[in-house]
Amino acid sequence: MASPRPQTNQRKKDTKEPYSANTRDKAQAAKDYIERKYSKLKKNEKTRNEDWDDLKKTMEDLNLSSNEQEMIKKKIIHREAELMRKRRQKITVHDFDPIKIIGKGAFGEVRVVRYKSTGEIFAMKKLNKTEMLYKNQVQHVKAERNVLATVENPWIVELKFSFQDDRNLYLVMEYLGGGDLMTLLIRKNILTEVEAKFYIAECILAIESIHKMNYIHRDIKPDNILIDNTGHIKISDFGLSKMAEISPINEVLDKLEEDARHKQKIEQRAEFRRNRKLAYSTVGTPDYIAPEIFSRTGYNETVDWWSIGVILYEMLVGYPPFYAEKPADICHKILSWQKYFVIPRDARLSPQATDLIRRLVCESPIRLGGGGSSEIKAHPFFNGVDWRNLRKSTAPYIPQLASDIDTSNFDQFEETEPFYPLPTKKKSRKDPNFVGYTFKRDDELQRNGIVLAMEELEEVKSILGKNEKYIPN
Ligand code: ADP
Ligand code: MG
Repeated sequence: MASPRPQTNQRKKDTKEPYSANTRDKAQAAKDYIERKYSKLKKNEKTRNEDWDDLKKTMEDLNLSSNEQEMIKKKIIHREAELMRKRRQKITVHDFDPIKIIGKGAFGEVRVVRYKSTGEIFAMKKLNKTEMLYKNQVQHVKAERNVLATVENPWIVELKFSFQDDRNLYLVMEYLGGGDLMTLLIRKNILTEVEAKFYIAECILAIESIHKMNYIHRDIKPDNILIDNTGHIKISDFGLSKMAEISPINEVLDKLEEDARHKQKIEQRAEFRRNRKLAYSTVGTPDYIAPEIFSRTGYNETVDWWSIGVILYEMLVGYPPFYAEKPADICHKILSWQKYFVIPRDARLSPQATDLIRRLVCESPIRLGGGGSSEIKAHPFFNGVDWRNLRKSTAPYIPQLASDIDTSNFDQFEETEPFYPLPTKKKSRKDPNFVGYTFKRDDELQRNGIVLAMEELEEVKSILGKNEKYIPN
């Protein structure tokens, strides 16, 4: 998520929309909410009224008297109230034991934690509210929470909970022990074409599934591609995925400079990749961003395919095509990519790899993938890829993990502030900026009380002898 981010508020004048940015954001949030609820309803297929009707029928089949039927209904209502109460019980950081910091992000660190009540291991991403308001990123963070909460998708990191306290928002996700693709590239320096083919093919399936949900990721880069315990990839960091949003280059550059000034100088290391990873962990690198994102002309989902072209280049050549010391220089090179883009001969890329990169790192109207991901999948570079069973195949590198809390695939980080926030005396008012953030996956997906009661009664029905009468207690 640490990347140049467009500022929503500044769009008002550029686009001729009659609404303020705030109204539009609210409308989008409402739309997201309705879509989420609706897709869940569709999944459960029945409405609540239909559930009651089904229940009534089952109770009649069981010859229950109207009194007995009333009793069951009352019980259901009672049970649902109890469920609701349980669901409202707050999750806090105190429900987790900190284990280790594995990443430093734009708004706070990512840690491996243990969920005390079940012993499960998760990754917890902390986002500092003040920092987020300062950087004008509240909408992006909400977008991230919404994408992660909506979908159940093998290519996307699963969100388990989100909650907040006075200072921070928290995203609790499944922990992927294999590290990120940037760490893998640092270790391997370059990949073989066979290895690159695997990772790029998986990325294509992942991005395809994100586009199917009508999202554009916009920040596809090696450190947002995580590797699970079996060596397969999952995409994370949806802070920038939103429907198209125009971000003129000046705003992007201002933002980068501002962020860089805001953050203290970061420890420098010799190796340039490691250096870059550290240096950009809090401000974001523009290396993988498509040129049209910087222009006022708008863009579409093919920006993610550009990023894939850049990543493939980096995997095979050893460094990204528009590398420069300063972010502004990287942006400049990307905008004049025709002048700067070269595939060095001595990297000895196959004609297929060379052709694929050239068809991804090019003008958006002729970019491969503009007519759907199948265009990319059909490219000769991917000859022999079994797209349907790719996630079931054996990955080139399978993480060797000593335990479920093994963090050897991540860099070391200093603990700078305590995991548990210091108690605040005053009970502070809820910040309206962050309303509607809390989420528990199990609860949102939980069946309602009527359905549960139905299932029980159906079981009774199947057990009951012919002339036996069921007496609910
Ligand atoms: P930011 O928005 O600050 O870039 P990310 O979500 O990309 O934050 O997380 C920063 C880093 O933390 C990632 O590059 C990755 O190394 C690590 N990380 C994030 N989420 C997970 C996770 N669920 N499992 C394992 N590592 C993760
Ligand atoms: Mg990231």
